[in-house]
Amino acid sequence: MSSASPAERPRARFELDDRGFDEVPRKYRKYYRRWMGEGDALAPNEVLCPVCKVVIRSSRELREGDRVYCMACMTRMRVVRAEDGLLIARVEY
Ligand SMILES: [Zn+2]
Repeated sequence: MSSASPAERPRARFELDDRGFDEVPRKYRKYYRRWMGEGDALAPNEVLCPVCKVVIRSSRELREGDRVYCMACMTRMRVVRAEDGLLIARVEY
């Protein structure tokens, strides 16, 4: 086991593909996908918008404190760690 904290580890990078999310302009489509509900799982570069249940995708691994923007509902959020350890998005006012 390394003693390095996750914050010191370089972030993993992700290749994004177009998942056909047509609620935003074409050039932004790869940054979003629909949440498939029960059985769906979030990748380390994905976070669920709590407002409209759209998955926001990043080209790099997401970490606590990151700011994300949901273009589908125009909400700004910050990535936080939930009690169960999962990364979730919290709306910023
Ligand atoms: Zn949203």
